[in-house]
Amino acid sequence: MPRIDLHLHTTYSDGSHFPAEVIQFAHEAGVTALAITDHDIVKGIPEAMEAGATVGIEIIPGIELSSRFDGRETHILGYFFDWQDPTLHTRLTHQQASRHERNPRIVEKLNHLGLELSYEDVTAKAGGGSIGRPHIAGVLVDKGYVNSTKEAFDRYLAEGGPAYVLRELPDSREAIAWIREAGGVPVLAHPHWTRRKGQELEVMCSTLKEAGLMGIEVFYGTHTKRQTSEYLELARKLDLLMTGGSDFHGAAKPDIQVGRGRGDLKVTDKLLEPLRKAARH
Ligand SMILES: [Zn+2]
Ligand SMILES: [Zn+2]
Repeated sequence: MPRIDLHLHTTYSDGSHFPAEVIQFAHEAGVTALAITDHDIVKGIPEAMEAGATVGIEIIPGIELSSRFDGRETHILGYFFDWQDPTLHTRLTHQQASRHERNPRIVEKLNHLGLELSYEDVTAKAGGGSIGRPHIAGVLVDKGYVNSTKEAFDRYLAEGGPAYVLRELPDSREAIAWIREAGGVPVLAHPHWTRRKGQELEVMCSTLKEAGLMGIEVFYGTHTKRQTSEYLELARKLDLLMTGGSDFHGAAKPDIQVGRGRGDLKVTDKLLEPLRKAARH
């Protein structure tokens, strides 16, 4: 059965590979359709479409929007929207600006904690793409302050950590509306990330559904079997679509492969048509 991957990052956000490289990995993994879902940016899509056409992989317009729900950062994936929509572009430009304001402040906080790094180190690490916390983590690894990206997040960069800087983010309901207004399908990314489960997660998803949410990312690179079945059941109960993807980033998450996650991920192409139908064209 053909496999798909609806959650992938490239150098346009915090991934370490160009869109064409990601598509090559997908081709090797037997992926027939994919979505590049860079954070708050759609600039990788044309390159992906070009590369996809040469190897015969369908490229679905995708994005991962950062938002906040009930005080916690929440990611909303969008699919099959009009990625050239001017209103969406204006909104994304504003989002990127808030991201750019934040990163130098994180570096400042790290400097105050006695860690020597400059913002230039971080931009060099990002290699011209949009800068994210994984790049800062990468510099901390390079400089020997931590042993891994994970340690950098655990010790300094994660929400609540000593170098964490709160970002100006839209409410998740607003992010959902952005995708809907551009004709797309909004989906709650990696539900475990919300640190909610059971009744609490159900209430959150119902609230977001009232605001226009259409799906849940049921299949994910690091979900346990138990998590997958919980989200599957929740999607059925709330009549939400199901999606799945690896959340490939390349170097920042070296154990995650395109189309295969840690090896046991398989997202069936059967999920694609319902998603396509749900989009407004
Ligand atoms: Zn995410
Ligand atoms: Zn992601």
